[in-house]
Amino acid sequence: MGTTRRALLIGGGVVAAGAAGLAGRRVWLDREPPALPVIDRSGHLLWQNWAATEHAYPATRVSPASPDEAAHLLRTAKGPVRMVGAGHSFTALVPTDATLVSLDNLSGVLGHDAATGRASVGAGTRLYDLGPQLAAIGQEMPNLPDINKQTLAGATQTGTHGTGRGFTALHGGIVEFDLATPRGEVLTCNATSNPEVFNAARVGLGAFGIMTRFTMQNHALTRVKKVTSLRPREELIEGWDDLQRRHRNVEFYVIPFSHWGQLITHDETTEPVRPRGPDTDTKGAMDLKQARDLFEFATPLRFWTADHLIAGMPDQVAIDQGWKLLSNERPLRFREIEYHLPRENQIAALREVVDAIERHRPDVFIPIEVRSIAPDDAWLSSFQGRESGSIAVHAYYKDDYQFFYTLIEPILRSHGGRPHWGKLNSLKYDDFAALYPRWKEALAVRDHLDPEGKLLNPYLTRVLRRG
Ligand SMILES: Cc1cc2nc3c(=O)[nH]c(=O)nc-3n(C[C@H](O)[C@H](O)[C@H](O)COP(=O)(O)OP(=O)(O)OC[C@H]3O[C@@H](n4cnc5c(N)ncnc54)[C@H](O)[C@@H]3O)c2cc1C
Repeated sequence: MGTTRRALLIGGGVVAAGAAGLAGRRVWLDREPPALPVIDRSGHLLWQNWAATEHAYPATRVSPASPDEAAHLLRTAKGPVRMVGAGHSFTALVPTDATLVSLDNLSGVLGHDAATGRASVGAGTRLYDLGPQLAAIGQEMPNLPDINKQTLAGATQTGTHGTGRGFTALHGGIVEFDLATPRGEVLTCNATSNPEVFNAARVGLGAFGIMTRFTMQNHALTRVKKVTSLRPREELIEGWDDLQRRHRNVEFYVIPFSHWGQLITHDETTEPVRPRGPDTDTKGAMDLKQARDLFEFATPLRFWTADHLIAGMPDQVAIDQGWKLLSNERPLRFREIEYHLPRENQIAALREVVDAIERHRPDVFIPIEVRSIAPDDAWLSSFQGRESGSIAVHAYYKDDYQFFYTLIEPILRSHGGRPHWGKLNSLKYDDFAALYPRWKEALAVRDHLDPEGKLLNPYLTRVLRRG
């Protein structure tokens, strides 16, 4: 141990001589991407997604104030008509140069039933607004994603999920919705009324119409204990099955180029409230970036540095209502690919992904996220019909992410993965048709509701129309 450490330190000295040069290279690479014009030549304002992977200059922007207005708009507006939530999808679901629709005017809790635990909610409600509004009526969403900036419609249209073996993605809690269609109707859809639309459009990529209202099946407010700890990564990988059985919600991150991982658990508790502290993940990620900048081409030294940065860091504990703890702040901008695999393939795929990154992509420093999701029956849900384990790889927003498609995606596909609808992937119609047993039925419903293809932008055409 001592010898290894000394050797590494000596090696470090040698590498340090070159480190200044390498860091200089990184400083050069670490430039802000060029900004796009805020207004185009026709005077149209820029729309850009959170990750700055997509943009457009829509000629018209509208925010209907009622479901009927949304239906009228869809019937009369120039296509492509695209809906936007919080713009947090990485894929090109939203861009349109014609009509961009926001549901900001249809938001908030509209009513509730205390006996059933259900609430009726405007489709444009942001998850961060929904938490306190539901809490005021004694309810909370059963689970939440890693952040809560999304709108309810935007989140459910892409199958947004949190983690926990017993928890479906967010759309699993939707028991009814109202959908304004390009035919000019407003359909109320649930398991017995318009059931095919209910099944096809619940996760619908904004390709079936404008969601205006949801009825959600919520849970009673629950106090949970959140524990964030750093653990040897092999312990997390080997213990993943057991961890999922022992904790209500559990996920872990593999910290690349280190022997460590971060474990996050949430369990119900009656212990007294201990509010969460400030976000420390961002500082941690920037420390990993610094180790990358200095030791990108000195892998043993990078492992050594990261291991020493991480070892001995204390656990963080917070106790509060679930809606206050399940989501996090993620101010660090990144690009992401995430696939949902049959649960039994998750760990084998993870090992291949980590190995590929550590062999071929020394520029990666953001941890690799590992979660689990229960199955559901929405026809276009990535979790449809199977217990799933997800794997997400991130790239810092200033770094190249083409390796998602050449290095990571082939591994995830070879293990039977389905991509997250809102995250980067290269799949087209035929690929999706092979992954979703109800694909053709779902698209038949879509074509019936939108015969002129008014909702299809170029990306959705590639995905939903055989090319
Ligand atoms: C930092 C970050 C963290 C993330 N964490 C997670 C996570 O933990 N888990 C996860 O699963 N995903 C996660 N995502 C992905 C994100 O949840 C999804 O991409 C989600 O769709 C974004 O919601 P949004 O409100 O921004 O919708 P947008 O991205 O604006 O839109 C998404 C889709 O919904 C459609 N849409 C919006 N409103 C309507 C409407 N009223 N009617 C019909 N269609 C509509 C749009 O047309 C589009 O097709 C994360 C993304 C980021 C940037």
